[in-house]
Amino acid sequence: MSTQWTQAACRAADIDSESFFPLSYAAGNPQVQAAKAVCRSCPIRSACLAYALRRGEPEGIWGGLTPRERRDIRDKTRQEATR
Ligand code: SF4
Repeated sequence: MSTQWTQAACRAADIDSESFFPLSYAAGNPQVQAAKAVCRSCPIRSACLAYALRRGEPEGIWGGLTPRERRDIRDKTRQEATR
């Protein structure tokens, strides 16, 4: 993954990195929408999301998802594993 980070869309000089760690993750927050738009065009989105899920990243938008959205995926995966 480390070499892949060089391809991260959020590393571009004109991207506001603060958008990825907004004060509020509400869907209507323009910062959240801006960060998600960057993630949608990112060539390593899947790897980024997998990394964040594996590490249980508690903050920030990773792979286009908010902490709440990542928690939902982890919860669903856990539930499916116990069936
Ligand atoms: S998916 Fe989003 S947060 Fe992850 S590396 Fe790409 S632009 Fe950055």
